[in-house]
Amino acid sequence: MKPVTGSKLISSALIALFCLQCAYVFGWGNEGHEYVNRVAAEKIPVEMPRFLRRAVAELTYLGPEPDRWRSPSEYALKNAQEPDHYIDLERVAWLDPLPPGRYEFYRKLYEKRATTTDHADDYLPERVGLQPYITMEIFGRLKAAFREYRHRREAHQPTGPVEHAIVFYAGWLGHYVADGSQPLHTTIQYNGWVGPNPKSYTTEHGIHALFESTYVAQNISTKDFANLVHPPEHLDDPFADYIAYLKESNRLVENVYAIEKAGGFTGKGSPEAFDFTTHRLAAGSQMLLNLWYTAWLDSAVPPETAAGTAKNSSSK
Ligand SMILES: [Zn+2]
Repeated sequence: MKPVTGSKLISSALIALFCLQCAYVFGWGNEGHEYVNRVAAEKIPVEMPRFLRRAVAELTYLGPEPDRWRSPSEYALKNAQEPDHYIDLERVAWLDPLPPGRYEFYRKLYEKRATTTDHADDYLPERVGLQPYITMEIFGRLKAAFREYRHRREAHQPTGPVEHAIVFYAGWLGHYVADGSQPLHTTIQYNGWVGPNPKSYTTEHGIHALFESTYVAQNISTKDFANLVHPPEHLDDPFADYIAYLKESNRLVENVYAIEKAGGFTGKGSPEAFDFTTHRLAAGSQMLLNLWYTAWLDSAVPPETAAGTAKNSSSK
């Protein structure tokens, strides 16, 4: 690196500060997000609608879509959606199980914040992150759209418009599911180790982008992990299964740091880095495929039947 002076140094510092923010919310780079969606799309089983199996290009394009919503030129959008990409699970270890609805989660966090004296703002919803909530909300949109598709087919009505909606929801869903397979999107250790550090892991703010963007773009392609993704399974409790998926991701946070410390993500990387990263990408594709499949199957159940089993429901 060349020595830098004066204004160059200041602008470098500003860029670094800006990129610290970017790195927090990205969640796999463009390539990783496209890969996760593409591999899932190519594995859609024949019992699902043919228009969706043919939408591989659209589903792939939509993988990085929410990362296109982060420009300061659309401030309200940027501000509203940034916490959707992560959840710091260590901050909610006291809240088990997590409540199923976004606003119940907010209430629990504000109650916790009110009784906390040290760093109380760490419990603000936007600091903790809302990853499982946005995921379940889009899953719900997809299921509702599949239900509409079934109704229109039964009524011999045109299905083109609802097919477009389904492709959009399915692709959009893929973004957050992929973020959830990236361990650094589930942790306070999202970009440099914080707190006690007996193993001397990096505290620099570069590990997040190095792993999910630079390393993946230079070393991984879809063929490296497509064979790790199996036919989909129906999820009996999508929210609980999704939380378990995030917790599994969180258990692997330290592996990311250990691989980085050994230089595994630098240049062509190490065999360990390759194995770890391909399995994480495959976990993302598998969960996405399972959620698509579950939304499709569950959309055949009349909502009145499903609503009859829902607890604590209320409406205005
Ligand atoms: Zn993201």
